Amino acid sequence: VNVDVKLGINKFHVDEGHPHIIIREHPDMEAFHTLTLACPAGLYKLQPDGTIRFDYAGCLECGTCRILCRDSVLDEWNYPRGTFGVEYRYG
Ligand code: SF4
Repeated sequence: VNVDVKLGINKFHVDEGHPHIIIREHPDMEAFHTLTLACPAGLYKLQPDGTIRFDYAGCLECGTCRILCRDSVLDEWNYPRGTFGVEYRYG
């Protein structure tokens, strides 16, 4: 079973309108590129036209982006509010 299938088993309780991770207005693009490779859920994306996309809804709350790029890319990194966020499922 590949990673994408396993990630698909998890359930996400999305806190609509309240992102727990906020990207800087002008992120360091080199660091952003690092995150496109490092985020295990693939949530940091570079579009063909060079613009960036980030979708907090599928966050695994692993903290990788926080450790790597807290000052260069992120404006805010918090855990989701109570009852929201990822619900891990195994099997
Ligand atoms: Fe991706 Fe982990 Fe950062 Fe969530 S905490 S956006 S899963 S690197």
